[in-house]
Amino acid sequence: MPAKGKHRRPKSQRITRKLAVAGTGGAALALPLMAATGAHATTASHPADGKKAAAATYTVKPHDTLAKIAHKKHVRGGWKHLYHLNRKVVGSDPDLIHPGEKLVLGAKHTAGAAKAKASPSSAAQSSAAKGTDTAAQTSGSGYTLPVDGATLGTPWHQAGSMWSSGYHTGQDFIVPTGTPVHAVADGTVVTAGWGGAYGNQVVIQHSDGKYSQYAHMSALKVTAGQTVKEGQEIGVSGATGNVTGPHVHFEIRTTPDYGSDIDPVAYLRSHGVNV
Ligand SMILES: [Zn+2]
Repeated sequence: MPAKGKHRRPKSQRITRKLAVAGTGGAALALPLMAATGAHATTASHPADGKKAAAATYTVKPHDTLAKIAHKKHVRGGWKHLYHLNRKVVGSDPDLIHPGEKLVLGAKHTAGAAKAKASPSSAAQSSAAKGTDTAAQTSGSGYTLPVDGATLGTPWHQAGSMWSSGYHTGQDFIVPTGTPVHAVADGTVVTAGWGGAYGNQVVIQHSDGKYSQYAHMSALKVTAGQTVKEGQEIGVSGATGNVTGPHVHFEIRTTPDYGSDIDPVAYLRSHGVNV
């Protein structure tokens, strides 16, 4: 019966995809990124680079990631471009950079970036030894960003045929696989596990009745029923589920379920978070 066969095919595809992710871990997750970087490299040169030849450099410090550096130094094109510029130094894995490596920073994406030279240095470094590996920059309002050093990706409610609702239900934060993901506020974990197209996901209920969702993670660090604190690491970013590259898909919802999303960036901003 052809109808039956048709029905079965998606099922087996789903299984093989799951196995591929579970079996090869980080190596497989890095692939879409490499492909993207490769494609980028073939598309001629960067017009902006021509205008200022004296490129600034940066020496990698302990606990740095490409995303953090790109964010801190306002690198145009974010960590992906930073990686592209420094491919020879960094090597094939953008998650692996070493203290002491010298990176070229390329063009900056904001005008008033000159003052960035003033060195943020030691204050941030000294907290690194404590437990909360990347003590997320808290706003003081009880809310914080889901990931540090991200470039904003696909925005909430962008229309597109690849989403079953017809539009994007969250805000994407572009970060390399392996970036710590933080609870944006205190709450209780209501979901922690495989979410189909969302890959490995966590949903947290907050005291204001809203829910935050974090998707496509490579590893989860919490379980359902657990209480979490603002800024607590709940997982590690990745590219599980339906994605074209590593990022964190972040939603704010009025219920624990898909389809009740509200503007996540407006929500964070209303709580004093600088997005
Ligand atoms: Zn998304």
